[in-house]
Amino acid sequence: DSRLAGRHVVVTGGARGIGRGIARRCARSGADISIFDLRPDVAEETADEVRDIGGAATVWKVDVTDADAVADAVEGAESELGPIDGLVNNAGVQQAISILETTEEDWDRHFGVNAKGTFLVSKHVAERMIETETAGSIVNVASVGAERPFKGQGAYGASKAAVVTFTTVLAKELAEHGITANSIKPGTIDTPMVQQWLEERAAQSDATEEELLAETIDEHVLDRIGTPEEIGHAAVLLLSEEGEWITGESIAVDGGYLRG
Ligand code: NAD
Repeated sequence: DSRLAGRHVVVTGGARGIGRGIARRCARSGADISIFDLRPDVAEETADEVRDIGGAATVWKVDVTDADAVADAVEGAESELGPIDGLVNNAGVQQAISILETTEEDWDRHFGVNAKGTFLVSKHVAERMIETETAGSIVNVASVGAERPFKGQGAYGASKAAVVTFTTVLAKELAEHGITANSIKPGTIDTPMVQQWLEERAAQSDATEEELLAETIDEHVLDRIGTPEEIGHAAVLLLSEEGEWITGESIAVDGGYLRG
């Protein structure tokens, strides 16, 4: 598969979980990858996997809520691997917490990373795509929680709904520059975030982690949770020429969760 051959794709939160799967999957379609993550040590493992597949990879220590750090990393990534053709805003945080227990700090953390982080990286990368006249693509990782949240996803689900709405406007405003923007709403994917979420929910209820996982699986029409690579497949489509007539869309990749 050479659908992303010669393209430079930035993946935020690419050190582990879905971001790592997306980075690997894009590399298998020929992309070079820049990873922006809080944890550069762990992100280096993803970069090595990308190199093993045959792509170039660079790692940047970035907190996506920090505008200066984002600007520096975008500049650095371009100087190493050339103009950015694709951006996947995947960095995100989630804590299972009821609304009555949610503090102002909890709320701000979810909106800071998930919503503001997506805005900041999109803005900086879009400016560069326009400057370099690159007909690029932006893919924002939202969540099925934007539409069908569980209890305990007040701040998280609302911040992901913000990502979906923001992406619609991004698509409209960047269209004249030949740039597309879409969001993906993953269902439950096997990652460290989901492990932690099961632990938190088990601590708050009488159910065990295994029981909660079984209940979650039951909500997915295909009767299993997904893999990071399965989100990568959708990202490759949206980042490639085959996806160039898709914009402003929000695609559920969820084993049928939203229809369950
Ligand atoms: P994860 O916690 O396993 O990985 C998140 C990555 O983002 C980590 O590498 C972390 O270091 C990085 N990160 C966190 N805050 C950051 C910041 N401020 N700046 C830079 N990097 C930061 O999570 P995951 O399950 O892989 O989720 C990835 C994305 O997919 C998130 O946006 C999440 O909300 C979304 N999502 C996940 C699921 C799921 O079931 N796993 C479902 C729907 C949506």
